[in-house]
Amino acid sequence: MLRHVNPRARATIKMMALAVVGAAVGGGAVAVVQRSEAPSKRTTSRSSSTSPSSSGDTAAGRTATTAAVTRPATPPPGSVRVPILMYHRVSNPATSRSHLERSLTVAPRVFAQQLNWLRAHHYVTITQTQLADAIYGTAELPKNPVMITFDDGYVDISNTVLPLMHKRGMVATAYVITDRVLGADRAFMKVPALRRIESGGIEVGSHSVSHADLTTLSDAAAMRELEGSRRVLERILGHPVPWLCYPAGRYDARIEALASRAGYVLATTTEPGATHDRSRPLALSRVRISDTTGVSGFSAILG
Ligand SMILES: [Zn+2]
Repeated sequence: MLRHVNPRARATIKMMALAVVGAAVGGGAVAVVQRSEAPSKRTTSRSSSTSPSSSGDTAAGRTATTAAVTRPATPPPGSVRVPILMYHRVSNPATSRSHLERSLTVAPRVFAQQLNWLRAHHYVTITQTQLADAIYGTAELPKNPVMITFDDGYVDISNTVLPLMHKRGMVATAYVITDRVLGADRAFMKVPALRRIESGGIEVGSHSVSHADLTTLSDAAAMRELEGSRRVLERILGHPVPWLCYPAGRYDARIEALASRAGYVLATTTEPGATHDRSRPLALSRVRISDTTGVSGFSAILG
């Protein structure tokens, strides 16, 4: 698992997996302490089946045990600088189904050139866990960190992105919409693809259940999108998935608070920028990469 992934990223993913294995050994289900809050510690416990089933979580015989994934209650002051690149599709633009989709599609040849540019300029791709640890002050980032993210979970990720990144020992994150993972539209990755990309170094995060604009929903409906998607992904992958990307970047203070309550540790937006205030780990800015960015635009952005 995770062959050819840079050693630091591999270590952090492995630590996460070990925590889950520890919990699973204890009783076949996972309950995780996401983080704590001073002065009394907050414990986010939940039960999540390790079975690949995507149906309800009421299977008989499972008992929850607790694996502690503990970060400090409050992030230290200051900010963390990491460009988080936002991609959508990596495919031939002719396959795009709309003007908007075409503008969000990067050709595989251009994408490979962008990865080569990162490598030539000594950028190190990092995982969500590495960023969370840096924001909460429990670990340092490597020099020249960059996080690569893909929204919506198109099959481009398993078909095209995975081999290109794997060959270069790079890691990334794919935010998926669970209704589309479980649905019939073949443009989106399904359960086996999610497992395959993760074992190749592309972590999976939530992009909600249905890609609804969360700010238009009631608290209860927004929580169903946030918690429901996380639960499905954790059941598919067998470990915690505390990473979120707001659908269409739509969020506000209420949704940020609900995301925290739903157990997310990091959440990305579509707000532009590469410097992240440590006090807002659920409002990370990103750098949009579009069909017109190319390599020259890429180098202008990252310089
Ligand atoms: Zn989206």
